[in-house]
Amino acid sequence: MTYMQAHRYLMQYSIRPSVQRTAVMEYLMNHKTHPTVDEIYLALSPGIPTLSKTTVYNTLNLFIEKGAVQMLTIDEKNARYDADTSKHAHFYCGTCGKVHDIMNVNPEVFEIPSNSQFTIHSMQLSYYGTCTSCNS
Ligand SMILES: [Zn+2]
Ligand SMILES: [Zn+2]
Repeated sequence: MTYMQAHRYLMQYSIRPSVQRTAVMEYLMNHKTHPTVDEIYLALSPGIPTLSKTTVYNTLNLFIEKGAVQMLTIDEKNARYDADTSKHAHFYCGTCGKVHDIMNVNPEVFEIPSNSQFTIHSMQLSYYGTCTSCNS
């Protein structure tokens, strides 16, 4: 993903693509590791000296509000962010702390009864365990 693709993505979500916002989005699109605010801030601040952690945090909240990014609560210590808003599950490795995508979950897992009285705005499916590299 390039800076211009991130720029275009923000425009699609009616988000004014400032340099800082575009840089945060570009980082998220290129790092499918579900980074934390700290990780994004540490990676971008050398290139954007005016960037503050608060700006990163506020930017991510705006992205969530506009539906361009999802926040994961899978890691109880840190909120994680994902630019992939498609239906997919996550796996948290308790040994290395990495969050992995699980893309092909049976769609029935996501279904709620059709007579449900609830209006769903978001959902998260989280699995916890040990990843392959930590198992070996
Ligand atoms: Zn692991
Ligand atoms: Zn994900």
